[in-house]
Amino acid sequence: MEELKKIQQKLSSHWSQIDTATLVNDVTRSLMQDRGDWDPPVGVEPKLKTIPLSIGIPDTESLPKEALRQSANRIFSRPGEAAFVYGFGMGYRRLRAQLAEMYSNERGMQVTDDWFQLCNGSSGAIDLIGRTLVQPGDVIISESPTYMGTLRNFRALQADVQSVPMDQDGLITSELETLIKRLLENGKQIKFIYTISTFQNPTGATLATDRRIELLRIAAKYKILILDDDAYGSLYFESKPPPPLSALSAGHGVLTVGTFSKILATGLRIGWIHGTPDLVALFGKMRFAMGLNQQMARTVSDYIAAGNLNSHADSVRSIYRNKMETLADALTQHAGEFVQFTRPKGGFYLWVNLTNSLRTQDVWRTAAEEGVAFTRGVNFYPSRVDPDEHIRIAFPWTRLDEIEEAAIRFGRACRRVAAGDGASD
Ligand code: PMP
Repeated sequence: MEELKKIQQKLSSHWSQIDTATLVNDVTRSLMQDRGDWDPPVGVEPKLKTIPLSIGIPDTESLPKEALRQSANRIFSRPGEAAFVYGFGMGYRRLRAQLAEMYSNERGMQVTDDWFQLCNGSSGAIDLIGRTLVQPGDVIISESPTYMGTLRNFRALQADVQSVPMDQDGLITSELETLIKRLLENGKQIKFIYTISTFQNPTGATLATDRRIELLRIAAKYKILILDDDAYGSLYFESKPPPPLSALSAGHGVLTVGTFSKILATGLRIGWIHGTPDLVALFGKMRFAMGLNQQMARTVSDYIAAGNLNSHADSVRSIYRNKMETLADALTQHAGEFVQFTRPKGGFYLWVNLTNSLRTQDVWRTAAEEGVAFTRGVNFYPSRVDPDEHIRIAFPWTRLDEIEEAAIRFGRACRRVAAGDGASD
């Protein structure tokens, strides 16, 4: 007993004083140096309770809690223990078959369950693809700007992220070919092209059909794999977006990652990799966690089988369209002289260019003081430089009745900064 006490004291005196940064590897150390992309600005006291325009998660009131509860009840009531044991392999087969049916019906391609590997959300899918394919130093080509979560993941892989600029029609394919030629001349190994082709995070832009075909032409010419992050494709406001890259390529050379996070709920953690069966089979080799959450895969599958998903998707599409229109109108009315944007045709985000020489950093800090939060564009650039002072506004999670107030506060912050009266740095 005495002996154990002494050991505990020794352990405590060592571990209670240790600088945890000395424990980590170089990659973690470099990620630790970043301030969290979602953190509010340091040293700014909000005058009012903050209205968030910074969070990419679905509308709270429309979460289909009751239907999911009924599905979960049915899963827990089933005889046997299938939902209570490890789920190895590619994930719950029935759900993969349902995904295959959805892709076959909605995307104009004929696929089966072995075209799908279930993962822990689409971020888990991207992580698995990266860990399976990328060696330190390999090039990944991405759009600029792009989703910051994936950028962190690529950094963790020690990949060399090279980027291609975008415009309203998505990735600029002519610049892509120039970049590829230059990289190949320099002997670089290009692992894949990462695109969020539909309702992109953060710009809301969608890759135009002719550019989709051009992207595939380039990928075919240089034999480069495409990774299409399709987190938002089903969240269109009016008409369906152009055909997905995987449908246009008949599945060849395109890996798509998808998720139920945005159409249903981020906490479910059910996503997938979709691609030709030979490619998809690769990813099982790099799965070390003991399978997915079996209950939730079955719950979501039951929810779909009960016919709930389509009506829910229809209802959230119109909720998001309404929120986006409300936000765009309110920004025009209350901050019109300071902002420029194109209304997105789907997805979660409005990408706003600040005008009148306003600096994002100043508006971000001052807006936080006025009680409204958004995300600075700089976070989404692989180079960490935003040439045009952008901000990303996420509207789905914000309450409809708070959107106009958020725009009023935002306009107030812009006017303060323009008058030289912003929150101090
Ligand atoms: N990709 C994109 C483009 C995203 O915006 C997000 C979430 N913000 C993800 C992937 C990750 O989503 P999840 O892991 O919840 O599926």
